[in-house]
Amino acid sequence: MNKISDNLQAVQARIAAALQACGRPAGAVSLLAVAKTWPAADVQTAWNAGQRAFGENYVQEGVTKITALAGLPIEWHFIGPLQGNKTRLVAEHFSWVQGLDRLKMAERLAVQRPPHLPPLNVCLQVNVSGEASKGGVAPDEVLPLAQAVARLPRLRLRGLMTIPEPSEDEALLRQRFRQVRELRDHLEAAGLPLDTLSMGMSHDFELAITEGATLVRVGTAIFGARVPQGVRQAQNDCR
Ligand SMILES: *Cc1c(COP(=O)(O)O)cnc(C)c1O
Repeated sequence: MNKISDNLQAVQARIAAALQACGRPAGAVSLLAVAKTWPAADVQTAWNAGQRAFGENYVQEGVTKITALAGLPIEWHFIGPLQGNKTRLVAEHFSWVQGLDRLKMAERLAVQRPPHLPPLNVCLQVNVSGEASKGGVAPDEVLPLAQAVARLPRLRLRGLMTIPEPSEDEALLRQRFRQVRELRDHLEAAGLPLDTLSMGMSHDFELAITEGATLVRVGTAIFGARVPQGVRQAQNDCR
């Protein structure tokens, strides 16, 4: 047993306990392992322990790992902010994009998704905390964006994703997650079938599960604490 597989088991146990505590069926939540900053070897270790879906935030770093692990049928999710000059790499290498918040980017992905691949699964990122610095579409703009994205070829609108502001206030976090679930219900009532609510990270995924998350994105609790970029660079220089 290594640390990553122990951690995966512990996270799966926490997910199961959270589901049981709120009366949701076992298996109602899937786990996305967020591997940003960690090498392909760690992804391989998690794969060997049974983990199948992985998230990346940085396009180039993600593509490097996807290429290194091309022999494994991993489900790769791009969960970082999307830049216009990177959409082609994302459309060519990933099977999901979770941070979509502009029609322009969706249109680019639709054009750039290679015809031999299945449609690209997309989640719209919703900004429920109102932080100006954060990506995501405002709640009252989600429906028109969702309707426009749903009409695009080569994309499959799967649901909503959110990253609330960092907070120790559990009631506040639950309120944010609940708002996204209610938005999802609203979109479904408007005729958009959505099966994914991507919310919850290492420190708050139990709260998100209580509020209806179907996909939790967990990095630190699986791979350990990330080293800040500057420090990582210095360590690399020492080798
Ligand atoms: C880094 C990241 C995560 C994982 O965060 P942890 O706190 O390490 O679990 C989840 N979602 C997004 C969008 C991220 O950028």
